[in-house]
Amino acid sequence: MSKIKVAELFYSIQGEGRYMGVPSVFLRTFGCNFTCAGFGLPRGMRSDENDRVYEKHQQFPFKSYEELPLVSTGCDSYASWDPRFKNLSPMLTSNAIVERTMEILPHKQWVDEHFIFTGGEPLLGWQRSYPDILEHAKMQDLKEITFETNGTQKLHKDFKDYLTEWGRKNGRTRESITFSVSAKLSVSGEKREEAILPAVVAEYGEVGHVYLKFVIADLDDAYEAIEAVKDYRAAGFTGSVYLMPVGGVESVYNLNNRRVAELAMQMGYRYSDRLQVPLFKNAWGT
Ligand code: SF4
Repeated sequence: MSKIKVAELFYSIQGEGRYMGVPSVFLRTFGCNFTCAGFGLPRGMRSDENDRVYEKHQQFPFKSYEELPLVSTGCDSYASWDPRFKNLSPMLTSNAIVERTMEILPHKQWVDEHFIFTGGEPLLGWQRSYPDILEHAKMQDLKEITFETNGTQKLHKDFKDYLTEWGRKNGRTRESITFSVSAKLSVSGEKREEAILPAVVAEYGEVGHVYLKFVIADLDDAYEAIEAVKDYRAAGFTGSVYLMPVGGVESVYNLNNRRVAELAMQMGYRYSDRLQVPLFKNAWGT
């Protein structure tokens, strides 16, 4: 039986992308290959908000994710990869993950809910453990899964083969598997050559439905997204493109959402809200 380091396991509605509004169980795995310290700041600057949270954590240790402060710059799920907060993320067996999943489902069985692998970056090494979750007897009525990924991690061959089969069983189709790829532009603070990997994303399309979702703060970001999309298309990506406003806290989100919606309309892309911000203030566990 596999074990996974779990940052959060919670029930909410999907707030972003193609399945906005769909009730979903979110498995947030621990660890990420990026830090995205540039979000919410002028280019070249890096957030130190999680350093300040850590200073507080040293004085008065936070005991759970719910106690952690939200940040307005950098990665809004910092505790899911920053090793200084790793004590908040237990190692759970695949069985424990499934049992907890069934507890938090309102009908204690799958009705129309989705299961979402998120992070951190959920396609790091943990991907080898996901079949143990998905093959559990209580997961057989699950119809739809999504991987919320930054689009930099290749699928291991065994996992790719497994997903292909999963998408053919129990009335599912290839469309039952979604890769929601939040590719990181320079506003994130990550390097383009490490963040925009079109061949990796194109390969996801061999096993499921793929779309791109770019976090946008200004017009420069939107133009950068257009250039990146050209590279993804050249590699074989055929899915939709979403622009989503920057803003893990309402004050920032409210400044950007209408402008980003207008940019999406002008460019012929889709607009993605981030419903967890206005509905739930982006609290942990939402
Ligand atoms: S890729 Fe996602 S989880 Fe990782 S640091 Fe960036 S925003 Fe945070």
